[in-house]
Amino acid sequence: MDGAVAPVDTDLEAFRAEVREFALTRCPPDIRELVARGGKLGRDAWSRWQRILYEHGWGAPNWPKEAGGTGWDLMRRHVFDEVMAECDCPPQYHHGLRHLGPVLIEYGSEEQKARFLPGILDGSVWWCQGYSEPGAGSDLASLKTRGERDGDAYVVNGQKMWTSHAQEADMMYTLVRTSQEAKKQQGISLLLIPLNSPGITVRPIRTIDGWHHVNEVFLDNVRVPVADRVGEEGQGWDYGKFLLNHERLNGANVAPLIRQLGRVRRLVADEFAGAGDATRRAALEERLLAVEAETMGARALGRAAVETIVARKPLGNTASVIKLVSSRLMQKLDEIGLDATGRRLVSRFRPLDGNTPPDGIEALQNFLYGRVRTIYGGSSEVQKNVLAKSLFGH
Ligand SMILES: Cc1cc2nc3c(=O)[nH]c(=O)nc-3n(C[C@H](O)[C@H](O)[C@H](O)COP(=O)(O)OP(=O)(O)OC[C@H]3O[C@@H](n4cnc5c(N)ncnc54)[C@H](O)[C@@H]3O)c2cc1C
Repeated sequence: MDGAVAPVDTDLEAFRAEVREFALTRCPPDIRELVARGGKLGRDAWSRWQRILYEHGWGAPNWPKEAGGTGWDLMRRHVFDEVMAECDCPPQYHHGLRHLGPVLIEYGSEEQKARFLPGILDGSVWWCQGYSEPGAGSDLASLKTRGERDGDAYVVNGQKMWTSHAQEADMMYTLVRTSQEAKKQQGISLLLIPLNSPGITVRPIRTIDGWHHVNEVFLDNVRVPVADRVGEEGQGWDYGKFLLNHERLNGANVAPLIRQLGRVRRLVADEFAGAGDATRRAALEERLLAVEAETMGARALGRAAVETIVARKPLGNTASVIKLVSSRLMQKLDEIGLDATGRRLVSRFRPLDGNTPPDGIEALQNFLYGRVRTIYGGSSEVQKNVLAKSLFGH
């Protein structure tokens, strides 16, 4: 209907108000302050927040009620993420909740669900994702880590690469090749491996931002019980794809963009709070406004994607468009943040020794770390290939 105004969903508005009230009163001030200035969260802060959400019954916004989740529909989940971002509450640690959890709920055995879901829900057990390998990133199906059957166990040998948080995680879900098939997507299985298993070595990779996020994980004759394989042997690619679809939808989530926009807006205001160069400030604010307008567009696209899924219509490649656009917008915001500081932070930069950030250089760290946004979760080039294929058929 042309010109018709969509009716206000009062239930949804009441829900939005409830989430906002919770976010502002229950998220610990030190965590909100850290998020607001773009600091990095460690396991301790993340787990504390997860525990608070869990005790309120909001531990798993994206899981069905039977599995201990909220049972919210996609629109409520979307609103929840948006409000949390607007209030500078951290995102929930995603590997267990958003990636592995839905796979276990769909394909895991009852024993696996009983064993693994509670620890994800209350935040006491941390997972990491062991997919990528040297030579198997965008082309993940080329992975070479082998799992050879020996009685009631697989003996796993190989190397995983870029494994985020492996240094502080308890468990790793990982894809390994359990048989050699003609098609490289076949013969792959999904295994669940405790990181303290004999034969596992985790070696840090220092990234350009000086932080320790990612690791190499070496697996040397690691014995994994067959009972810790998810679903059928050789079907891991399908489970992995199911999981990556969740990751992609997560990537289509514009909440990080909302957080970052608020943060950089404050940074620019603070930098020029006293006197300052009015011309420089005007130029930065002009750039900020342009990104803000594009962010509103990305937000509208995210909302439209949710409505499409709720209406059970095909989503097409909207998730790829949002991933492509929002990752680039995040980088533009990082660039504005860094320019606002006049690059004075560069001389203060030191590679980190542990996981405690030096105060005051977050704008620089975020700029450096932000390079990864157009690489992980499906690089921009790969997203463009997906879009070109759907538009031009090749
Ligand atoms: C900080 C960080 C955290 C990560 N965390 C994890 C994690 O927790 N678990 C995990 O399993 N992996 C993780 N990854 C790995 C990430 O998924 C890969 O880096 C990503 O898939 C790209 O793979 P690659 O690094 O091997 O690069 P490649 O795939 O070798 O790509 C190199 C370049 O070539 C381009 N390219 C590749 N294929 C094509 C193509 N067909 N057409 C056009 N261009 C192409 C890419 O866009 C890129 O620019 C992480 C990576 C980083 C940097």
